[in-house]
Amino acid sequence: MKKGVVYKSTGSWYTVKAEDGTFYECRIKGKFRIKGIKSTNPVSVGDHVQFEVETKGDETIGIITIIEERENYIIRKSVNLSKQTHIIAANIDIAFLLITLNNPPTFTSFIDRFLVTAEAYEIKAILLFNKIDTYTEDELLEVKYLAALYRDIGYECMGISAITGKNIDKLKEMMKGKVSMFSGHSGVGKSTLVNAIEPNLNLKTTEISNQHMQGQHTTTFAEMFDLSFGAQIIDTPGIKGFGVVEVEKEELGGYFPEFFKLKEHCKFNNCLHIEEPHCAVKEALENEEIAWTRYKSYLQIIDGEEEHYRKDIYTN
Ligand code: GDP
Ligand code: ZN
Repeated sequence: MKKGVVYKSTGSWYTVKAEDGTFYECRIKGKFRIKGIKSTNPVSVGDHVQFEVETKGDETIGIITIIEERENYIIRKSVNLSKQTHIIAANIDIAFLLITLNNPPTFTSFIDRFLVTAEAYEIKAILLFNKIDTYTEDELLEVKYLAALYRDIGYECMGISAITGKNIDKLKEMMKGKVSMFSGHSGVGKSTLVNAIEPNLNLKTTEISNQHMQGQHTTTFAEMFDLSFGAQIIDTPGIKGFGVVEVEKEELGGYFPEFFKLKEHCKFNNCLHIEEPHCAVKEALENEEIAWTRYKSYLQIIDGEEEHYRKDIYTN
Protein backbone atom coordinates (compact mmCIF):
# COMPACT_ATOMS: atom_id res chain seq x y z
CA MET A 1 0.00 0.00 0.00
CA LYS A 2 1.33 3.41 -0.99
CA LYS A 3 0.26 6.89 0.01
CA GLY A 4 0.13 9.81 -2.35
CA VAL A 5 -1.57 12.98 -3.54
CA VAL A 6 -3.73 13.33 -6.66
CA TYR A 7 -2.16 15.81 -9.09
CA LYS A 8 -4.41 15.38 -12.08
CA SER A 9 -7.58 13.61 -13.06
CA THR A 10 -9.21 12.92 -16.38
CA GLY A 11 -12.35 11.32 -15.09
CA SER A 12 -11.32 7.68 -15.10
CA TRP A 13 -7.56 8.00 -14.52
CA TYR A 14 -5.86 9.77 -11.67
CA THR A 15 -2.24 10.83 -11.62
CA VAL A 16 -0.99 10.30 -8.11
CA LYS A 17 2.37 11.38 -6.73
CA ALA A 18 3.55 8.85 -4.19
CA GLU A 19 5.51 9.85 -1.09
CA ASP A 20 8.77 8.82 -2.79
CA GLY A 21 8.08 11.29 -5.62
CA THR A 22 7.08 8.72 -8.25
CA PHE A 23 3.98 9.40 -10.31
CA TYR A 24 1.46 6.58 -10.81
CA GLU A 25 -1.51 6.42 -13.12
CA CYS A 26 -4.30 5.13 -10.93
CA ARG A 27 -7.83 3.91 -11.26
CA ILE A 28 -10.51 3.45 -8.69
CA LYS A 29 -11.76 0.04 -7.86
CA GLY A 30 -15.51 -0.38 -8.08
CA LYS A 31 -17.92 2.14 -6.76
CA PHE A 32 -16.59 4.62 -4.32
CA ARG A 33 -18.74 7.00 -2.36
CA ILE A 34 -17.68 9.46 0.22
CA LYS A 35 -20.14 9.98 3.01
CA GLY A 36 -22.27 13.07 2.63
CA ILE A 37 -21.04 14.16 -0.78
CA LYS A 38 -22.84 13.25 -3.95
CA SER A 39 -20.43 14.15 -6.66
CA THR A 40 -19.71 13.13 -10.21
CA ASN A 41 -16.12 12.46 -9.24
CA PRO A 42 -15.27 10.49 -6.11
CA VAL A 43 -11.63 11.55 -6.13
CA SER A 44 -10.35 15.03 -6.92
CA VAL A 45 -7.07 16.86 -7.39
CA GLY A 46 -5.51 17.48 -4.01
CA ASP A 47 -6.95 14.35 -2.44
CA HIS A 48 -4.68 12.31 -0.22
CA VAL A 49 -5.14 8.70 -1.21
CA GLN A 50 -3.80 5.22 -0.58
CA PHE A 51 -3.32 2.83 -3.45
CA GLU A 52 -2.07 -0.63 -4.36
CA VAL A 53 0.37 -1.07 -7.19
CA GLU A 54 -0.58 -3.68 -9.77
CA THR A 55 1.72 -4.91 -12.48
CA LYS A 56 0.36 -6.61 -15.58
CA GLY A 57 3.04 -7.48 -18.11
CA ASP A 58 5.11 -4.34 -18.45
CA GLU A 59 2.30 -2.08 -17.30
CA THR A 60 2.20 -0.73 -13.77
CA ILE A 61 -0.91 0.95 -12.50
CA GLY A 62 -2.25 1.97 -9.14
CA ILE A 63 -5.61 1.08 -7.66
CA ILE A 64 -6.94 3.69 -5.26
CA THR A 65 -8.51 2.03 -2.26
CA ILE A 66 -8.70 4.77 0.34
CA ILE A 67 -9.40 8.50 0.17
CA GLU A 68 -8.28 10.25 3.30
CA GLU A 69 -10.55 12.74 4.98
CA ARG A 70 -10.44 16.15 3.32
CA GLU A 71 -9.46 19.33 5.14
CA ASN A 72 -11.69 21.21 2.70
CA TYR A 73 -12.82 21.03 -0.89
CA ILE A 74 -14.30 23.30 -3.50
CA ILE A 75 -17.14 22.31 -5.77
CA ARG A 76 -18.96 23.38 -8.83
CA LYS A 77 -22.57 22.58 -9.49
CA SER A 78 -23.01 21.34 -12.98
CA VAL A 79 -24.75 23.80 -15.25
CA ASN A 80 -27.27 21.31 -16.58
CA LEU A 81 -30.36 20.08 -14.84
CA SER A 82 -28.86 17.05 -13.18
CA LYS A 83 -27.67 19.30 -10.33
CA GLN A 84 -24.68 17.07 -9.83
CA THR A 85 -21.77 18.36 -7.88
CA HIS A 86 -18.25 18.22 -9.20
CA ILE A 87 -15.41 18.45 -6.73
CA ILE A 88 -12.87 20.74 -8.31
CA ALA A 89 -10.09 20.40 -5.77
CA ALA A 90 -9.43 19.35 -2.20
CA ASN A 91 -7.07 20.22 0.64
CA ILE A 92 -6.28 23.79 -0.34
CA ASP A 93 -4.17 25.64 2.21
CA ILE A 94 -4.37 29.17 0.84
CA ALA A 95 -6.69 30.91 -1.59
CA PHE A 96 -5.01 34.08 -2.82
CA LEU A 97 -7.15 36.79 -4.36
CA LEU A 98 -5.39 39.18 -6.70
CA ILE A 99 -6.84 42.65 -6.57
CA THR A 100 -6.20 45.68 -8.78
CA LEU A 101 -7.79 49.10 -8.31
CA ASN A 102 -8.05 49.65 -12.04
CA ASN A 103 -7.31 47.83 -15.28
CA PRO A 104 -9.41 45.96 -14.27
CA PRO A 105 -11.16 47.39 -11.21
CA THR A 106 -11.84 44.96 -8.39
CA PHE A 107 -14.83 46.09 -6.39
CA THR A 108 -15.21 45.42 -2.70
CA SER A 109 -18.41 43.50 -3.45
CA PHE A 110 -16.32 41.00 -5.40
CA ILE A 111 -13.67 40.78 -2.68
CA ASP A 112 -16.36 40.21 -0.06
CA ARG A 113 -18.06 37.46 -2.04
CA PHE A 114 -14.71 35.78 -2.48
CA LEU A 115 -14.09 35.97 1.27
CA VAL A 116 -17.55 34.60 2.08
CA THR A 117 -16.86 31.65 -0.19
CA ALA A 118 -13.47 31.09 1.45
CA GLU A 119 -15.07 31.21 4.91
CA ALA A 120 -17.78 28.77 3.86
CA TYR A 121 -15.21 26.41 2.40
CA GLU A 122 -12.94 26.86 5.43
CA ILE A 123 -9.98 27.91 3.32
CA LYS A 124 -7.53 30.56 4.48
CA ALA A 125 -7.79 33.60 2.22
CA ILE A 126 -5.04 36.14 1.55
CA LEU A 127 -5.49 39.36 -0.41
CA LEU A 128 -2.77 40.46 -2.82
CA PHE A 129 -2.91 43.99 -4.18
CA ASN A 130 -1.10 43.65 -7.47
CA LYS A 131 0.32 46.25 -9.90
CA ILE A 132 1.45 48.33 -6.96
CA ASP A 133 4.11 49.79 -9.28
CA THR A 134 1.46 51.57 -11.35
CA TYR A 135 -0.38 53.44 -8.62
CA THR A 136 -0.46 57.16 -7.93
CA GLU A 137 -0.07 58.45 -4.36
CA ASP A 138 -3.84 58.63 -4.02
CA GLU A 139 -4.28 55.12 -5.28
CA LEU A 140 -1.62 53.88 -2.88
CA LEU A 141 -3.63 55.49 -0.08
CA GLU A 142 -6.67 53.61 -1.26
CA VAL A 143 -4.75 50.33 -1.21
CA LYS A 144 -3.59 51.18 2.29
CA TYR A 145 -7.14 51.87 3.37
CA LEU A 146 -8.44 48.61 1.91
CA ALA A 147 -5.57 46.58 3.34
CA ALA A 148 -6.21 48.07 6.79
CA LEU A 149 -9.94 47.36 6.48
CA TYR A 150 -9.38 43.69 5.66
CA ARG A 151 -6.48 43.24 8.07
CA ASP A 152 -8.68 44.49 10.91
CA ILE A 153 -11.13 41.73 10.09
CA GLY A 154 -8.30 39.21 10.21
CA TYR A 155 -7.25 38.70 6.60
CA GLU A 156 -3.62 38.95 5.61
CA CYS A 157 -2.98 41.55 2.91
CA MET A 158 0.07 42.42 0.88
CA GLY A 159 0.94 44.81 -1.92
CA ILE A 160 2.90 43.18 -4.73
CA SER A 161 4.10 43.76 -8.23
CA ALA A 162 4.41 40.82 -10.58
CA ILE A 163 6.42 43.06 -12.88
CA THR A 164 8.97 44.68 -10.55
CA GLY A 165 9.09 41.68 -8.22
CA LYS A 166 8.01 43.68 -5.17
CA ASN A 167 7.23 41.30 -2.27
CA ILE A 168 7.42 38.23 -4.50
CA ASP A 169 9.99 36.65 -2.18
CA LYS A 170 7.65 37.25 0.75
CA LEU A 171 4.84 35.65 -1.21
CA LYS A 172 6.98 32.60 -1.95
CA GLU A 173 7.75 32.36 1.75
CA MET A 174 4.00 32.32 2.50
CA MET A 175 3.49 29.58 -0.08
CA LYS A 176 6.29 27.29 1.06
CA GLY A 177 5.07 23.84 2.07
CA LYS A 178 1.49 24.72 1.18
CA VAL A 179 -1.03 24.18 -1.58
CA SER A 180 -2.21 27.49 -3.05
CA MET A 181 -4.74 28.73 -5.53
CA PHE A 182 -4.85 32.11 -7.25
CA SER A 183 -8.07 33.88 -8.13
CA GLY A 184 -9.05 37.28 -9.42
CA HIS A 185 -10.61 38.98 -12.40
CA SER A 186 -9.14 38.44 -15.82
CA GLY A 187 -6.30 40.92 -16.31
CA VAL A 188 -5.29 41.35 -12.65
CA GLY A 189 -2.01 39.59 -13.38
CA LYS A 190 -2.42 35.95 -12.39
CA SER A 191 -0.35 34.55 -15.26
CA THR A 192 2.29 37.24 -14.86
CA LEU A 193 2.49 36.51 -11.16
CA VAL A 194 2.80 32.76 -11.57
CA ASN A 195 5.51 33.42 -14.11
CA ALA A 196 7.32 35.69 -11.63
CA ILE A 197 7.12 32.98 -8.98
CA GLU A 198 8.16 30.12 -11.23
CA PRO A 199 9.39 31.18 -14.68
CA ASN A 200 9.13 27.85 -16.47
CA LEU A 201 5.71 26.80 -15.43
CA ASN A 202 3.12 27.07 -18.14
CA LEU A 203 -0.34 26.99 -16.74
CA LYS A 204 -3.30 26.30 -18.93
CA THR A 205 -5.29 29.15 -17.47
CA THR A 206 -4.41 31.36 -20.36
CA GLU A 207 -4.63 28.75 -23.06
CA ILE A 208 -8.30 27.99 -22.65
CA SER A 209 -10.04 30.97 -24.09
CA ASN A 210 -13.48 32.05 -22.98
CA GLN A 211 -14.71 31.58 -26.48
CA HIS A 212 -13.63 28.01 -26.54
CA MET A 213 -15.49 27.24 -23.34
CA GLN A 214 -18.65 29.10 -24.18
CA GLY A 215 -21.84 27.13 -24.44
CA GLN A 216 -20.15 23.89 -23.62
CA HIS A 217 -20.69 21.88 -20.52
CA THR A 218 -16.99 21.61 -20.21
CA THR A 219 -15.79 19.55 -17.36
CA THR A 220 -13.14 21.42 -15.49
CA PHE A 221 -10.05 19.47 -14.76
CA ALA A 222 -7.94 21.07 -12.15
CA GLU A 223 -4.27 20.25 -11.95
CA MET A 224 -1.66 20.49 -9.24
CA PHE A 225 1.89 21.66 -9.96
CA ASP A 226 5.06 21.41 -7.91
CA LEU A 227 7.06 24.60 -7.64
CA SER A 228 10.83 24.56 -7.31
CA PHE A 229 10.87 26.14 -3.85
CA GLY A 230 8.74 23.45 -2.21
CA ALA A 231 5.21 24.64 -2.80
CA GLN A 232 2.25 23.50 -4.84
CA ILE A 233 -0.33 25.37 -6.81
CA ILE A 234 -3.63 24.17 -8.14
CA ASP A 235 -4.67 25.53 -11.49
CA THR A 236 -8.36 25.47 -12.37
CA PRO A 237 -8.75 26.28 -16.05
CA GLY A 238 -12.08 27.80 -16.91
CA ILE A 239 -12.95 28.93 -13.42
CA LYS A 240 -12.00 32.39 -12.32
CA GLY A 241 -12.87 32.13 -8.71
CA PHE A 242 -12.89 29.03 -6.68
CA GLY A 243 -16.35 27.71 -7.11
CA VAL A 244 -19.50 28.87 -5.53
CA VAL A 245 -21.31 27.98 -2.37
CA GLU A 246 -24.94 28.43 -1.66
CA VAL A 247 -25.22 30.21 1.63
CA GLU A 248 -28.44 30.34 3.62
CA LYS A 249 -29.19 33.83 4.85
CA GLU A 250 -29.18 32.64 8.45
CA GLU A 251 -25.62 31.42 7.94
CA LEU A 252 -24.25 34.43 6.11
CA GLY A 253 -23.41 36.50 9.18
CA GLY A 254 -21.15 33.67 10.27
CA TYR A 255 -19.02 34.23 7.19
CA PHE A 256 -18.41 37.91 7.99
CA PRO A 257 -16.00 37.45 10.93
CA GLU A 258 -16.42 41.01 12.24
CA PHE A 259 -20.22 40.56 12.31
CA PHE A 260 -19.96 37.15 13.86
CA LYS A 261 -17.91 38.49 16.78
CA LEU A 262 -20.71 40.93 17.63
CA LYS A 263 -23.62 38.60 17.19
CA GLU A 264 -23.82 37.60 20.84
CA HIS A 265 -24.58 41.24 21.66
CA CYS A 266 -27.56 41.42 19.33
CA LYS A 267 -30.90 41.30 21.14
CA PHE A 268 -32.14 38.36 19.10
CA ASN A 269 -29.89 35.38 18.75
CA ASN A 270 -31.19 34.75 15.25
CA CYS A 271 -30.60 38.40 14.30
CA LEU A 272 -30.00 38.92 10.57
CA HIS A 273 -28.67 42.43 11.30
CA ILE A 274 -31.22 44.07 9.02
CA GLU A 275 -34.43 45.34 10.62
CA GLU A 276 -34.10 43.95 14.11
CA PRO A 277 -33.96 46.31 17.10
CA HIS A 278 -30.82 46.47 19.27
CA CYS A 279 -28.58 44.95 16.68
CA ALA A 280 -24.90 45.12 17.65
CA VAL A 281 -23.81 44.92 14.01
CA LYS A 282 -25.87 47.94 13.02
CA GLU A 283 -24.66 49.84 16.05
CA ALA A 284 -21.08 49.06 15.08
CA LEU A 285 -21.88 50.22 11.58
CA GLU A 286 -23.17 53.54 12.89
CA ASN A 287 -20.04 53.90 15.04
CA GLU A 288 -17.94 53.22 11.96
CA GLU A 289 -16.45 50.10 13.53
CA ILE A 290 -17.74 48.06 10.62
CA ALA A 291 -17.10 49.19 7.07
CA TRP A 292 -20.13 50.32 5.15
CA THR A 293 -18.89 48.44 2.06
CA ARG A 294 -18.88 45.19 4.03
CA TYR A 295 -22.42 45.72 5.22
CA LYS A 296 -23.51 46.58 1.69
CA SER A 297 -21.95 43.36 0.39
CA TYR A 298 -23.75 41.46 3.12
CA LEU A 299 -27.10 42.92 2.09
CA GLN A 300 -26.40 42.26 -1.58
CA ILE A 301 -25.67 38.62 -0.93
CA ILE A 302 -28.75 38.28 1.27
CA ASP A 303 -30.85 39.88 -1.45
CA GLY A 304 -29.76 37.00 -3.56
CA GLU A 305 -27.69 38.40 -6.32
CA GLU A 306 -27.13 34.79 -7.10
CA GLU A 307 -27.05 35.28 -10.85
CA HIS A 308 -24.57 38.09 -10.54
CA TYR A 309 -22.49 36.05 -8.22
CA ARG A 310 -22.23 33.16 -10.63
CA LYS A 311 -21.29 35.43 -13.48
CA ASP A 312 -18.48 36.85 -11.42
CA ILE A 313 -17.12 33.49 -10.56
CA TYR A 314 -17.33 31.59 -13.80
CA THR A 315 -15.75 32.50 -17.05
CA ASN A 316 -18.19 30.40 -19.02
P1 GDP B 1 -4.45 37.43 -15.84
O1 GDP B 1 -5.58 37.56 -16.82
O2 GDP B 1 -4.93 37.60 -14.45
O3 GDP B 1 -3.63 36.20 -16.03
O4 GDP B 1 -3.52 38.70 -16.12
P2 GDP B 1 -2.12 38.78 -16.91
O5 GDP B 1 -1.04 38.11 -16.15
O6 GDP B 1 -2.33 38.36 -18.30
O7 GDP B 1 -1.83 40.35 -16.84
C1 GDP B 1 -2.63 41.31 -17.52
C2 GDP B 1 -1.78 42.51 -17.84
O8 GDP B 1 -1.33 43.16 -16.65
C3 GDP B 1 -0.51 42.17 -18.63
O9 GDP B 1 -0.30 43.16 -19.60
C4 GDP B 1 0.58 42.21 -17.57
O10 GDP B 1 1.85 42.56 -18.11
C5 GDP B 1 0.08 43.30 -16.66
N1 GDP B 1 0.57 43.13 -15.28
C6 GDP B 1 0.43 42.05 -14.49
N2 GDP B 1 0.98 42.27 -13.30
C7 GDP B 1 1.48 43.53 -13.31
C8 GDP B 1 2.17 44.35 -12.34
O11 GDP B 1 2.43 43.97 -11.20
N3 GDP B 1 2.50 45.60 -12.75
C9 GDP B 1 2.23 46.08 -14.00
N4 GDP B 1 2.61 47.32 -14.29
N5 GDP B 1 1.57 45.34 -14.91
C10 GDP B 1 1.20 44.08 -14.57
ZN1 ZN C 1 -27.75 41.92 14.70
